Amino acid sequence: MQQIGHQILSKWYQTNYNYRALFQYEVKEEGYIMGQLIERNEDILNVVIHTIRFTYRQGFQAYQCQDSALTTDSGWGCVIRVGQMMMAELLKRHLKCFYNVDLFSIPRLLQEVLQLFKDDDEMESQKGFVRPSKYGFSIQKIMRVAYKEWGKKPGEWYSPNQIVQAIYKILSENNITYCCGLGFVPFYESQIDLRAIFQEMCMVENCCCQQRTFSIEQFLRALEKLEIGKEEVVQVMHGNDSISDVCYDDQSEQNKKEIGNLIKKYICQKCFIPIRAVTVCLLSRIGCDQPNPDYIQAIRQFMKKKYFAGMLGGRPKEANFIVGFVDNKFVVLDPHLVQEAKMNPEEYIKSCFPGEALFMSDKEIDCSLGLVFYLNNMDDLIELIYDIQAHQQINFFSFAHLQHWKYQETKKEEQLQNIKEMKEFLSEFQVQQQQQQILNLEISTYQEAHQNEIEYFDQQPILKEIDSSYEEI
Ligand SMILES: [Zn+2]
Repeated sequence: MQQIGHQILSKWYQTNYNYRALFQYEVKEEGYIMGQLIERNEDILNVVIHTIRFTYRQGFQAYQCQDSALTTDSGWGCVIRVGQMMMAELLKRHLKCFYNVDLFSIPRLLQEVLQLFKDDDEMESQKGFVRPSKYGFSIQKIMRVAYKEWGKKPGEWYSPNQIVQAIYKILSENNITYCCGLGFVPFYESQIDLRAIFQEMCMVENCCCQQRTFSIEQFLRALEKLEIGKEEVVQVMHGNDSISDVCYDDQSEQNKKEIGNLIKKYICQKCFIPIRAVTVCLLSRIGCDQPNPDYIQAIRQFMKKKYFAGMLGGRPKEANFIVGFVDNKFVVLDPHLVQEAKMNPEEYIKSCFPGEALFMSDKEIDCSLGLVFYLNNMDDLIELIYDIQAHQQINFFSFAHLQHWKYQETKKEEQLQNIKEMKEFLSEFQVQQQQQQILNLEISTYQEAHQNEIEYFDQQPILKEIDSSYEEI
């Protein structure tokens, strides 16, 4: 019975999916996906098909941990899948920005990175397991952590906070190869502790040279005096007049320079030297029942930034990985498609990429979400500080000193050595690899294939009816 239910669900998702796959979507106003400007529909597809997507899987061996007999995560694993998508995007970004390696130019590397999310993690599934699995972010691994932390059983739904916490645990307790040189800081309730970001980026807790202090408090007081939020208001009031736009750009560059100066003044430059990238995951609520339109506007501003690395969100009880926006819609990668867990390696890789972009009205979004920012260096951090100040008039985020945050001492020398080795390893990888393409990710192929589907689904019952049949299931 359960099996039949999954089949119906799967069919529904596939139908609904293709129906909504708006390949011929014409961009009317503006769009940004993963920080990249979208001007034509080809741009949407181009970014989306290079973003790793994970979906429900069926047919893996039963999760033997906690004596579960489940062989699929269909119907309950969507938040976990969204968490995996976040992590995959971060790894792709990290390799690109920090190590200067394009994942798509080295198929073997891509394969290895995807292996970290392997669906049939037999090592984790074994009872009484002793060695940690090499598959860093497999669903089994995530479940094991969640069971240990919250007694969560297979088949139970996760909140965005829980998946972020589980990933944070995995990252801080394991040495996962490609995560070398990447810090991860989760923040809850829209509060950001800059101290934590500096500490993670520079891998040092405090100034130890005694010459200068590490004073976030003084830094924040001085930052307030710059009155950054105010120009933004003036700019909005004056509209899009080109002259005031130029003034505004100059002003924002000037402000960023001043933020840089404040950092030099209040944060010891001798002890705080950035040595690694940091991911900031901001978990927030943007309303009680309905999302606050002002907050949605602020989110759209953040999505334009190059440090934007996706958003955990979706509709209520239906998680999606939100990758950007076009006009008044969010662009999402949907995990609610059931694929087979067992595939040959090439098929598996292809199954980890979406062939379509889905859209979701910004009013439908669930109020609980998590913005993900990848900060490669100090410039990115300055940019983020500026942007948060510029949006403060709606109190979206605030800087705070979080008592519960404690910097976890990690061996800095060891980390530096690992980063160096990783650089060498990746450059060898690049040399060895012939530039053969095993992936067929050309836009034209997708457009052609889906053009037929769009025509086919044009003759199908309207979306409303498909929706109501889903509710009956
Ligand atoms: Zn110092």
